[in-house]
Amino acid sequence: MKYYAPKGLYDIKPEDIPYWHAVEREVRSTMPLYGYEEIRTPIMEKTEVFARGVGEDTDVVSKEMYTFEDKGGRSMTLRPENTASAVRAYLEHKFYGKEELSKWYYLGPMFRYEAPQKGRSRQFHQYGAEAIGSDDPALDAEMIGLAADLLKSLGLEDVGLTLNSIGCPEDRVKYVDKLVEYLKPEKDRLCDNCRARLDTNPLRILDCKEDSCQEVVEDGPEITEYLCSECQDHFDDVRGYLKQLDLEYDLDPKLVRGLDYYTKTVFEVFSSDLGAQDALVGGGRYDGLVELFGGDPTPAVGFAGGIERLVLLLEELERTDMERSGLDVYLATLDEETKKTGLELVQELREAGLKAEIDYLDKSLQGQLGYADRYGAEITGILGPRELSDNEITLRDMETGDQATVPLNEFRSEVKNHLDSSR
Ligand code: AMP
Repeated sequence: MKYYAPKGLYDIKPEDIPYWHAVEREVRSTMPLYGYEEIRTPIMEKTEVFARGVGEDTDVVSKEMYTFEDKGGRSMTLRPENTASAVRAYLEHKFYGKEELSKWYYLGPMFRYEAPQKGRSRQFHQYGAEAIGSDDPALDAEMIGLAADLLKSLGLEDVGLTLNSIGCPEDRVKYVDKLVEYLKPEKDRLCDNCRARLDTNPLRILDCKEDSCQEVVEDGPEITEYLCSECQDHFDDVRGYLKQLDLEYDLDPKLVRGLDYYTKTVFEVFSSDLGAQDALVGGGRYDGLVELFGGDPTPAVGFAGGIERLVLLLEELERTDMERSGLDVYLATLDEETKKTGLELVQELREAGLKAEIDYLDKSLQGQLGYADRYGAEITGILGPRELSDNEITLRDMETGDQATVPLNEFRSEVKNHLDSSR
């Protein structure tokens, strides 16, 4: 064994794929119900798209980006998230002149150089939505409802929501001053990272996972006390709409999210099924990002959810409806002649929409039956030289072991009848 996948990057193996398909299907069917159309942006952008969009002082940009120089000497970065790219695309294609409200969804791989652990990898996949062009608090509520709805329709019962408002940049300046004033005397109780964050990005100290930092922050000032009246009204309205939509939430004044572009509403959705701690979805408003990229001031809101974590959870829930589905029919043949006819029969079955397989490993009849069993075939057709010369084929029900011989030209309809009656 010479080669391994790079650290923190994983193969999604065939046994996991049904779960991925279930998530992807749900995303693709639910998003359009809320008016979101798919957008696919490149998986790499010029580095400044993320450096400016996400923020130089964020962990994502300062520590976690896969940045390299391409052969033309340009600095390129594998996307660590999709919002900055969506806004770049919004401006590049002048969507502001074409539609009043752009509602997009996406699905795809993202890359962050993080310490790999369960539910955290260096290539991971996100689904997400962006609505660019409205500051209506009802849209924030819709976005939150959509994120929760998706998880619920995948069968996650215990979906929880935490909500906060981090106000506008002016509110944040006022708050950060107060926060730093409060934290400075407590500096020694903070972890090394947070001591550095005091100068670079004090807000991030609020969601540091270290117990000592949490204890310090616990008694500190809360951002919601520093909201201007517009941001306060917006937040009250979001909460009103959430109530209207019957969406329960917990307020968490320490929820700030790791990306600089957020303004006003921020939220996380998590599932307490099986005690999962980590957020499945994170999102919020980013009213300043379009302008930061050179466009007119344009309010926007969005969210992103991680597919790996969702799949882990669904697998732990042992969702039988998402298990790998086996073969419908296996066709056992015994020699060159029967194999030729067998290939035609298998082709006919496939064209009729059945999953059918034939022997490519030169196995004995016994070996072929064993293979059919392992791959979950419900029926095996057995075509030996005697059957072929009599224009017949034997059908074996793999569960009961019952066998019956039918005319060759009725094989397909017999198989279909049999499968229909057993399902
Ligand atoms: P963020 O883009 O940081 O707001 O993250 C949104 C969601 O993406 C998180 O709630 C996770 O579900 C998922 N996520 C973020 N980073 C990773 C990672 N390194 N590995 C797996 N999932 C991730």
